[in-house]
Amino acid sequence: MINLKELCENADTIAISGHVRPDGDCIGSSLGLSNYLKKLYPQKRITVYLIDPNPLFSFLKGFDEIVRVPASDVSDLFIALDLSEKQRLGDNYMLFENAKNTACIDHHINETGFSKNDWIVPDCSSTAELIYNLMDEEVIDTDIAQCIYMGLVHDTGVFQYSCTHRSTMEIAGKLIEYDFDHYKIIEKTFFQKSYIQNQILGRALLESIMFMDGKCIVSVIDRKTMDFYGATSKDLEGIANQLRYTRGVECAIFMYEIGTQEYKISLRSSEKINVAAVAKAFGGGGHERAAGLTMAGSYHDVVNNLSKIIEKQYRDNEEK
Ligand code: AMP
Ligand code: MN
Ligand code: MN
Repeated sequence: MINLKELCENADTIAISGHVRPDGDCIGSSLGLSNYLKKLYPQKRITVYLIDPNPLFSFLKGFDEIVRVPASDVSDLFIALDLSEKQRLGDNYMLFENAKNTACIDHHINETGFSKNDWIVPDCSSTAELIYNLMDEEVIDTDIAQCIYMGLVHDTGVFQYSCTHRSTMEIAGKLIEYDFDHYKIIEKTFFQKSYIQNQILGRALLESIMFMDGKCIVSVIDRKTMDFYGATSKDLEGIANQLRYTRGVECAIFMYEIGTQEYKISLRSSEKINVAAVAKAFGGGGHERAAGLTMAGSYHDVVNNLSKIIEKQYRDNEEK
């Protein structure tokens, strides 16, 4: 565990950032931590840098002050949240390079981090849960509680995934004592979809293909379809999860085109396949049950390459 007070004490400027395509945990934990530190140290300059954060989370305090374009500001302390590989900072990597001191707080599967002060707990539900554990409960207020709660909700799929522990529930229990609409923000940010999002989800489900005797399911959304619906990557969140809910499916692959012959891929698994290991084999990463990567090649190449590793893992597991 790191000591937040010791880390921040001598830093006049603190930069907080997270991974590319920031999700609810990334945004919630970044804003939760910045609101907390601003309250503790009103004289310090504390800035959150997240590229293109989803406006769904604009009700969180501090959202409007997020620096949304790639930055290279120099800071005394840089804290990376919800990532443990430098590349995942994307175009904000200069913030890390230029900082005098660095820290990394994360829960992805990774043996080593990349900062001077790493705290990586792969078993933890979310970065938000880790951030909560660094906080002094007396300092937490409604705004901070709401940010942390969003992180817990999104990374646990509303307390449903296997990463949800007793500690997660206990923290959530304490957080909903604060005065915010905890049920409404779950509906607004997690379950509610735009008409377009639902249409694309429908397309992805309709065109999905099962293989490996129904153990795997794959679906792809190409550039043309995205353009037709005017969809961006934010509109595709949740599709991989929905594919995994197909009965009998062990592993779901959802991919969408981000460039010519280049795909962003989301992997989800039920029980047996360690998708973090699958993603890692191709330079990605994540958690055992949810991981991501980008891959070059045709749709068929990508599916072939992924399924070879998935099949091997499946066979090895069966033999055990
Ligand atoms: P996604 O499929 O993008 O929702 O990601 C699922 C999980 O894997 C999230 O926790 C991501 O932060 C993580 N993840 C996604 N892409 C990568 C990557 N290229 N490298 C490491 N982790 C990733
Ligand atoms: Mn994340
Ligand atoms: Mn996370």
